[in-house]
Amino acid sequence: MMDGSDSMLLEVNDLQMHYPVRSRSWFAKPDYVRAVDGVSFSIAKGETLGLIGESGCGKSSVGRSLLRLITPTAGKVRLEDVNILDLSKREMRDRRREMQIIFQDPFSSLDPRLTAEQIVSEPLVNFKVAKGRELSRRIEELFDQVGLQKQHLKRFPHEFSGGQRQRLGIARAMALNPRFVVCDEAVSALDVSVQAQIINLLMDLQEQLGLSYLFISHDLAVVEHISDRVAVMYLGKIVEIADCHSILQNPQHPYTQALVSAVPRRHPSQKKEKIILKGDLPSATNPPKGCRFHTRCPMAMERCSTVEPIIKRFSDDHAVACHLID
Ligand code: SF4
Repeated sequence: MMDGSDSMLLEVNDLQMHYPVRSRSWFAKPDYVRAVDGVSFSIAKGETLGLIGESGCGKSSVGRSLLRLITPTAGKVRLEDVNILDLSKREMRDRRREMQIIFQDPFSSLDPRLTAEQIVSEPLVNFKVAKGRELSRRIEELFDQVGLQKQHLKRFPHEFSGGQRQRLGIARAMALNPRFVVCDEAVSALDVSVQAQIINLLMDLQEQLGLSYLFISHDLAVVEHISDRVAVMYLGKIVEIADCHSILQNPQHPYTQALVSAVPRRHPSQKKEKIILKGDLPSATNPPKGCRFHTRCPMAMERCSTVEPIIKRFSDDHAVACHLID
């Protein structure tokens, strides 16, 4: 994994997010959903880290914890030299300018009563960044950057197509010149051709503005197009993290191998036999002992059900949590 050099923008250490759930009886200890259970990674300036895993594995909780949209149970999230989990609400509000999020469903994240112009101007007005002519000029610039036109300014969210709405969500996220953006399933609700356009737009903006992304998705075929590195998450933990090429060409964890085998390939030489995993993702309230993946792992050994594997360096920038690489 990467070290804490000057090029590092974000460093996450042992992040935990445990949600309390109602106990079965008054006398029982409270139960917790351990949605995120000790996650560590770093993201360099201008880098995209893909975060991949099934629905319910905790990846969205990671993204929201980084921006303190939810309050993590424990851990550290350092944006350069500041642990944002130590900041007061007021200090955090100022930091939010640097950290933004793009959601899966812009329809529910954009206020339907506001015009596109009002939606994009809101953060600029709230943070007193611009007003009057300067505000109009900045909004037009943002519309231009995301591929929307002047005639879209007075439209309401329901008057846009899904792709245009996501462009609007991106313009709003970019309004305050952030340095770090969480893209939480940002293209999952779009048609494949529109997905490609939005991914290209995100990559162009990254190049122009030097942004860093955490790109969260359940779809490795999408993640591979935009990510420099990929972290694979299973039931609240990262089980493998490496550069994108190593994840796709040389996956080490059996769960990653199953995800890679499911990515459709056009060229026959790249096609792999699909690995079908048995069963569903177990409950994060009561995760399996030992390796959390052992109930579904085709390679499970005896000790996998009792001894939890810790994440270890496999090669330079490639780490895996599996007894097979001990
Ligand atoms: Fe499978 Fe065991 Fe490796 Fe877990 S530790 S992924 S159960 S082989």
